[in-house]
Parts: sequence; structure tokens; C-alpha cells
Amino acid sequence: MTQFKLGAAIAATMFMGACTGYVTSTEAASPEAAASIELYTFDCGKIEISDRGIFANDGRYDGQASEVADSCFVVSHPKGNLLWDLGLPAGLIGAEPTQNGVFTPSLEVSLADQIAAAGIESIDYVAISHHHFDHTGQQEAAAGAKWLVPQAELDFIENAGPEAGIGDMSGLMGLERTAFTGDYDVFGDGSVVIISLPGHTAGHAGLLVNLAEAGPVMLTGDLYHFRESRTGKAVPAFNFDAPETLKSMKVFEDKVAALNARVIIQHAAADLADLPKPPEALK
Ligand SMILES: [Zn+2]
Repeated sequence: MTQFKLGAAIAATMFMGACTGYVTSTEAASPEAAASIELYTFDCGKIEISDRGIFANDGRYDGQASEVADSCFVVSHPKGNLLWDLGLPAGLIGAEPTQNGVFTPSLEVSLADQIAAAGIESIDYVAISHHHFDHTGQQEAAAGAKWLVPQAELDFIENAGPEAGIGDMSGLMGLERTAFTGDYDVFGDGSVVIISLPGHTAGHAGLLVNLAEAGPVMLTGDLYHFRESRTGKAVPAFNFDAPETLKSMKVFEDKVAALNARVIIQHAAADLADLPKPPEALK
């Protein structure tokens, strides 16, 4: 990724506007499907942050240096494999780390190589938590898949002007796709559900995976970036819609409580460290 593109992508996060979207109830997973579902976690890079002040709209993080992990996931289901999020761009591999704004991203191994090394032979479906550069960097890893996309996120991507600074989305836009509103039950059995959590972006989403041994797992997308942003309900200053973000936090936490779900904050290295490393998967 060029400095310009990265800068433009970061600039996109400053775009503000109205927001739509709602959340429907989630069915219980069928035990038969859950028994064979696996959740793989992949290292999609890391981002050093010279000042994480923008990750709260009330100044609480101002002046603090930090670092976040960048993660991608594959859910293996009897009816197909779902790739969730696309990480940082593969162009960062082997490149000299370059600071752009407050961010210095880096990546060691491509997502496609990690997926192949894990023995996963096909990606049948792809979904992203949202369109930002650190979640759409390796669209080539989803080649040939069907894109499952919230209508609100698709509308934003299609209608955003150059001022929104969205990076190259051609890899996703060229795929066959299903657009939806609200939650989306990927395999029709309640085992893997894309959860509508708008606010960070217009059509931001999380993912619920019901596993036989580990139980329900909720991937946050960027509803939260740090563990302390969950406990303290920090709303990043660059979010698309701050009130909608707070509503989505309540939706998310109500669901976590109702399901007694395990929460994985996708940028929190401590949450990721507890997960199996490929070729091992959470079951
Ligand atoms: Zn992110």
C-alpha cells in the first residue's frame, strides 16, 4: 500500500454521517452443525500507534502510545468456509515500516499463505466487519468466494466520494454477493451469524460463532479496539455515528450476556493469544 492510499484510508475514518441498520434476534444453533464447526485465527499484522487519542471521543487516551494486533478468521462449517476480515495489505510484507499519521502497520505472512498452510482448501464465503484499510487489505484471499455484505456498508462503499478516501475495493466488488439488512444467518442453522453493529461505520458488523466445545464466541469487529474500550465504552472520535455505536454496544453486550458468550476483541493481542494457532482451531 502506498503512503497516499494508507493516508486516504485513514482519512476515510474521519467521515461522518447518518446511519441505518437494526438487529434481529439470533436463533440457537443446531447441535449437529455446531459439532463440526471450527474457528481458525490468523495473524493479519499489527499496528503501532504513536498516540491513540482518536480511539476515544472524550480525550481519555490522548498522548498514549499503543499497539494493536490485526486478526482474520476462518469459520469452517460443513456447508462451506467463511473468511471473516481481510487484514492489512500484503504489500507490507518485507517492507520498511512506515509511519502514516499515528499508525505504523506491519505484516509478516500473507493471509492466503496462512490459510493454505492450515490445510483450508477453499474460501466459499467472505464477510468483513467494515471497510477500513486494516480489514480489507488482502481481498485477493477471498478470490472466488461469495461476499456477504450489510446493505448499509455496501451503499456507503458504492456512494462514497473521493473525500471518504476508501481504498481499492475492487477485489470485493468484483465478487458475487448477497447484501442484507440486520443480522444474517450464514448457513441457515444459527451456527454462524453476522451481527449488525452499526456505528463504527454505516454497516459495521460482528460475528457470532456457536462452537460445540467452546460455546458461543462473539468477534467484535471494531466495536471495541482495546479491552479497556469495552469496559469503559470508549467511542472513537472518527466513528461514523457515535450514538449508533453506543446502541450497538448495548445490543452486543445484551447478546453476550444472554448467550454467556466468549468475547474476542479482534485488535486485542491478549484476546488473540488465548486462541489456538493454525493448524489448530477452536472447536
Ligand atoms: Zn480495525
